[in-house]
Amino acid sequence: MTGTCELTASDIAARVASRDLSAEAVTREHLARIEAVDGKVNAFLSVFNERALERARAVDAELAAGRSVGPLAGVPVAIKDVLDIEGLPTTCGSKILEDYHPPFTATAVRRLEQAGAIVLGKTNMDEFAMGSSTENSAYKKTGNPWDLARVPGGSSGGSAAAVAARLAPLALGTDTGGSIRQPAALCGIVGLKPTYGRISRYGLVAFASSLDQVGPFTRSVRDAALVSSVLYGKDPHDATSADEPVPDFVAALEAGAAGVRIGVPWSFLEKGVKPEVMAAFRQALAVLEKAGATLVDVTLPHLQHAIATYYIVATAEASSNLARYDGVRYGLRAGQARDLKSLYGETRDHGFGPEVKRRIILGTFVLSSGYYDAYYVRAQKVRTLIRRDFETAFGACDIVATPTTTAPAFRFGEKTADPLQMYLEDIFTVPANLAGIPGLSAPCGFVSGLPVGLQLLGRPFDEATLLRTAAALEAATDHHRQLAPV
Ligand code: GLN
Repeated sequence: MTGTCELTASDIAARVASRDLSAEAVTREHLARIEAVDGKVNAFLSVFNERALERARAVDAELAAGRSVGPLAGVPVAIKDVLDIEGLPTTCGSKILEDYHPPFTATAVRRLEQAGAIVLGKTNMDEFAMGSSTENSAYKKTGNPWDLARVPGGSSGGSAAAVAARLAPLALGTDTGGSIRQPAALCGIVGLKPTYGRISRYGLVAFASSLDQVGPFTRSVRDAALVSSVLYGKDPHDATSADEPVPDFVAALEAGAAGVRIGVPWSFLEKGVKPEVMAAFRQALAVLEKAGATLVDVTLPHLQHAIATYYIVATAEASSNLARYDGVRYGLRAGQARDLKSLYGETRDHGFGPEVKRRIILGTFVLSSGYYDAYYVRAQKVRTLIRRDFETAFGACDIVATPTTTAPAFRFGEKTADPLQMYLEDIFTVPANLAGIPGLSAPCGFVSGLPVGLQLLGRPFDEATLLRTAAALEAATDHHRQLAPV
């Protein structure tokens, strides 16, 4: 039976809280659907049947005793395998962490569980979150639920596919350069990368610390609003987490798109967007105009350098963050090493895949003496110019809108031979990470039966405007109601 698998997180939480449904039944149905369908989709790397059912029964017991559970009572959730849960495996999609069982739980996961959510399992991802297709996973390839011969996007492809395939109504991903928004777009669901600092990174395996953010995948904007209120807030374990007020995002949806000024960087969009994607984008803008938004032209002149800047900053930080995988402190250790140097070398040679190695080499190069000023320092300066471009634009508008990607999901293998082609997947998503601003992708139509997304970017800490605008689009369209054929 899969009766509850089509419900949104908000619906499940309301019905479990009112004891119309039991958390245990909801959990069983989702676990049964994973058992039946995930052999084809391959969204999960691990599933925790017993733990999930035990927690669901605990939620039911609390409710039976008349105590209230949080706003996510009984909501099944899938977690990208880059977030730690005490005692359970965290592979990060890498052989080097194959046997790693962290001794602590990520704050984001802890907050979900405290709100009553039920963790079903951990999802597939590009190794160390490096990639745009999930093909860089050391373990398996995840299929796009709309066409299993195509990629779900990446790096959080497993989480996006799980939500699109109705294996969970809610999943966590991480977004360093687009890894929530791009897979959300390619899988036809909602993905929200919050402002840098909104969600604690404690217990998140670091890729590029000045860019990494945790965020949700959902099948409705309302669900994204609901879970944001749970996840946001200061955490003493993460010095970069922000002590900013957390509004009631669900209440904020009421305002819709009325009065929202949407800036469109038309000249930036000329670059290589598929005409059918552009048509869906224009149609979404027309819907929002009807709902009371106004369109303005904006220019973001430095965005043309965003990809180059991102691949310097991100690889530099990655090369430093990944130095800790030395065969001594974590996971894999090469068995035949003769001395310390060969222990490091062989462990890293066996443990890391080709994309991770490419980035460590690139990052080490841009940080090395003699090149540091020419690459890393210059990239930091351009990063500042990109942030200023947005500050200027937000003087004239409340939101900047673009398509999330230039095209719908591509086939397996289509871009693996040419890393630069893969990097270009991120052309519209990386600017938000460089600027630290929030970005949301919402379904905005289909191209040859494959979903595409509208990206909305906002001022720092103004996720509310993104959510209410996306809610207006959702209310006037039925793209989000289409079910992936799995
Ligand atoms: N695709 C980008 C990269 O490969 C972004 C990844 C991410 O956001 N984690 O770096």
